[in-house]
Amino acid sequence: MSEKEIQSKPFPQGALPDEAQIQSCIRCGLCSAVCPIYQETRMETDAPRGRIALVRAVLEGRLEPSPRFKKIVYQCLACQACVDICPAGVRTDQLMMAARAYLLELEGRHWFRNMLFGWLLPKPARLEKATMPLRCYERLGLRRLVDRAGLDRLLPRRLREMSWLLPPIPRRPLRPQLERVTPAYNGSAGQEPRCRIGYFLGCAQDVMFASASAATVRVLTRNGCEVYTPAVTCCGMPHLGYGELERAKDLARQNIDAFTGQDLQAVITDCASCASTLHEYGELLADDPAYAEKARAFSERVRDISQFLDEIGIEPPQGRLDVRVTYHDPCHLVRGMGVSAAPRRLLQSIPGLELVEMEEANWCCGNAGSHAITETEESGRLLDRKMAHVADTDAQLVASGCPGCQLQLWRGVRRWNLPMQVVHPIELLDQAYRNGEKTNKR
Ligand code: SF4
Ligand code: SF4
Repeated sequence: MSEKEIQSKPFPQGALPDEAQIQSCIRCGLCSAVCPIYQETRMETDAPRGRIALVRAVLEGRLEPSPRFKKIVYQCLACQACVDICPAGVRTDQLMMAARAYLLELEGRHWFRNMLFGWLLPKPARLEKATMPLRCYERLGLRRLVDRAGLDRLLPRRLREMSWLLPPIPRRPLRPQLERVTPAYNGSAGQEPRCRIGYFLGCAQDVMFASASAATVRVLTRNGCEVYTPAVTCCGMPHLGYGELERAKDLARQNIDAFTGQDLQAVITDCASCASTLHEYGELLADDPAYAEKARAFSERVRDISQFLDEIGIEPPQGRLDVRVTYHDPCHLVRGMGVSAAPRRLLQSIPGLELVEMEEANWCCGNAGSHAITETEESGRLLDRKMAHVADTDAQLVASGCPGCQLQLWRGVRRWNLPMQVVHPIELLDQAYRNGEKTNKR
């Protein structure tokens, strides 16, 4: 099939799966061994190689884009494990995203999709209002009551699993509390900032993990960084995951503009999913003449919080944390950003903390955006594989730098009834600093 023929298919601009990519799959099958979905189902259609063959068949008109095809396309976790191992460099995750964009063009958008991707997610203030019932649930003590009385176990299975995803909800979102500029060294007079950085506060961090993000800002300022926090919109990860390519590009442009004109050493985020999405803006906007260069420069400055702190070197924490911790690698961090040693080094810098490695630390936990909600059963099987390794470590805490993974790990802790908490590594570093301050005051 020629390029021209493929382009006549209703692919949105820029979403056309790269024919060269499809052709370059040599069908070696190496990817099957690392694909979490294939390892569960053992169906060739679920292996990356099978998925590529299906996309090709649809593009060439040999296969109808049936509901089964759609399910297969949406089952991909975008974990990139196959990309890591592929000798031909095939980006199966991107092919699946392009196929979703293709299906969207075929099927059109319904009102719920428009409301979610076009109205709710792009406006953090709307998301904050929409999550108010969760904060009430927590603040009124209903959550504690349900947990203590075991009422969650009376819920229908699917609802119960979804309720387990909820972490302890913060009293308030962080965004309205953060100043546009937070001075270095907590504003101590007479000290020049070591550097000036931009902070990208992601949606989930804002409403679900506000305390972790507050810790991020404290740790950055303690280490001499002046933190610039502009008003941003969603990074676009949910949009890309659901084939909303043009909307994702719009969001990318808005986020780039939010940091433009500032002299910043880096753009930091403490959400692994946001980090990998921001990191790909250069690629996403490569065909936009007005933004291609700006997007490339922006992406080069994006850093995950642990990566950045590891690069600049941190003030060694003095306070102790006598705790046993295991670390789960978010797919978006370990493969999307190539970051795995930095968060471990941060954890190991804390006096008293014992880091114990779990088996398959970089195996997908099964959250994958909304996979835990839309494919509850399958996601639960992936989670069980992860939790078996987590439980083997006898750790008191499981740390991970991605809100999606943290939600899923909270679900796992409850599903397995483990006496364990889920944390972001930055919270532990922040706690160690604070413990050090308390000790010094005594
Ligand atoms: S590893 Fe790469 S080349 Fe081999 S079958 Fe998988 S996608 Fe194709
Ligand atoms: S990205 Fe992950 S889930 Fe998707 S095909 Fe590759 S290994 Fe499988």
